Amino acid sequence: MTQLAPDFDSLGLSSELVQALVGMGFTTPSPIQLEGIPVLLKGGNLLGVAQTGTGKTAAFSLPLLQRLDPVQTEPQIIVLTPTRELAIQVGEAIEQYAKYLRRVRVACVYGGQDIRRQLIALRNGVQVVVGTPGRIIDHIERGSLKLEKIRAVVLDEADEMLRMGFIEDVETILARTPDTAQRALFSATMPPAIRRVAKVYLGDAEEVRIASKTTTVEQIEQFFIQVPQNHKVEALARLLETEPIDGVLVFAKTKITTVAITDQLIARGFSVASLNGDLSQQVREKTIGDLKAGKINIVIATDVAARGLDVDRISHVINFDVPTDTEIYVHRIGRTGRAGREGKAILLITPAERRMLRIIEQATRQPITPMAPPTGEQMKQHRVARLQQEIMAVIDRGVLQEAREVALALAAQHDIGLDEIAAALIQKLPQGQNVLEKLYDVPQGVSRERSDAPRGERPRRIPVPTAMDRYRLEVGRQHNISQKDIVGALANEGRIDSKHIGRIELFDTHSTIELPKGMPHEMLRHLQTVRIRQHPGKFSLVGTAQPRGAERRGNNKPQAPKTRSKDGYRGK
Ligand code: AMP
Repeated sequence: MTQLAPDFDSLGLSSELVQALVGMGFTTPSPIQLEGIPVLLKGGNLLGVAQTGTGKTAAFSLPLLQRLDPVQTEPQIIVLTPTRELAIQVGEAIEQYAKYLRRVRVACVYGGQDIRRQLIALRNGVQVVVGTPGRIIDHIERGSLKLEKIRAVVLDEADEMLRMGFIEDVETILARTPDTAQRALFSATMPPAIRRVAKVYLGDAEEVRIASKTTTVEQIEQFFIQVPQNHKVEALARLLETEPIDGVLVFAKTKITTVAITDQLIARGFSVASLNGDLSQQVREKTIGDLKAGKINIVIATDVAARGLDVDRISHVINFDVPTDTEIYVHRIGRTGRAGREGKAILLITPAERRMLRIIEQATRQPITPMAPPTGEQMKQHRVARLQQEIMAVIDRGVLQEAREVALALAAQHDIGLDEIAAALIQKLPQGQNVLEKLYDVPQGVSRERSDAPRGERPRRIPVPTAMDRYRLEVGRQHNISQKDIVGALANEGRIDSKHIGRIELFDTHSTIELPKGMPHEMLRHLQTVRIRQHPGKFSLVGTAQPRGAERRGNNKPQAPKTRSKDGYRGK
């Protein structure tokens, strides 16, 4: 029977470990910790049927750390994880738990990282090695990872290792570690192959089952939006603009889709990054770091790349594609509602996929509430409210007397009202143009690709928009600037994919550039910080560029930049 333990002390953990937990704000053990810690502390094997989000990392790390010998500098604990991201995460967590244990060192080893770095770490002496099975075997074979002193082996997310084809490697490692080593296996599900591994290598392990979905799913509000496939990006963009988001993970089924969504959102001015297996390890780590630090808020990921991702600030998980399996759904939405916070999961589903919705509801025993994508009118109201807030913020800070005088002089000279001047200024602002943009409602119950909206009222097309705005930059030929410099600065610093950068024209003192219409204010503010060959760009909107598609339709000749306007900039 489970005894309710009021705190971690009563589980028998040392004061150093408890001190680290207090520092991390953990006061009450989670169910898997309550049941698992005593088993491992007394040297037993543990079979934990639990998924991420239940606190399983602490459940195995704390007792195993307590049992290791800090004087001995050979590896004593091996933790196997299916992905590099999870390895890093678990490694970081163990380091935090071991903060007050002297001389305990942790190494993370995984494919994709320079092996020399890992060799140095291992040579310097570590007691805990966390890694992916392939790289661990590599080190065992090189002799850089010695197994003689191993006291414990942990398999984390065993079912995922099976799914990814690592189970043979896992068995090889288990077979080569001393029989006396403790074993702990965690898995969200127990397919027969995992049961067999548990039977062979864990013997009479104590089994702790944490009913999946309990803590995680209940803290997450779940919604679905029925939307035709070709309107999903529009629905997604509207959600990102109107929902009170902090961090957002958008799940797509393939690597290609993650890139396509990322590109289309960037074209709409969002600051977004993809997370998929095609990206280098460094890029993936940087993206996760940026997401954790709030440098980016929106990440478009595949299931594998986001496996076990633990970022507290994820307020929303948006399933762009419906997962094929309910376990995947539960794992995806478990990326939000972390560390006791609330989370929101929104599933974009086509009418043809509605069957899957019912299956997920049955499996999770939780209702998924229907939700409508924000309508054009709601978007408008939202944008107006935001614009008003921004204007009020300027007024609250105090309007400059000089600016007031310019406005009053203009009104007097032309005998016009201040309201007209204010309206003209709003119209000139990018946010003002967003407000004035005509927005149609995203269709919901339509399963065919075509829209049923009447002619002339068709919703905006999803592909990359060709509607562009023209901006002026205060750098030109006299600053030794070339078009390449501008594209490079925008792509690298401005996070704008070069394919979304339109025509660039260079003049002596300035240049002009076309960028997708309706970029959010946040993005424009960021652009203000971009420097081109050390010169501040000082972007300013000068007007709408003629749509490229429309121009081509008008005359069948290829686009010739110089024929469009004499200087590319109509202002002074
Ligand atoms: P895990 O299941 O190991 O991925 O842990 C899920 C999240 O819960 C992580 O952010 C942990 O830091 C956090 N966590 C683990 N144990 C506790 C606890 N006892 N109290 C509060 N948060 C915890």
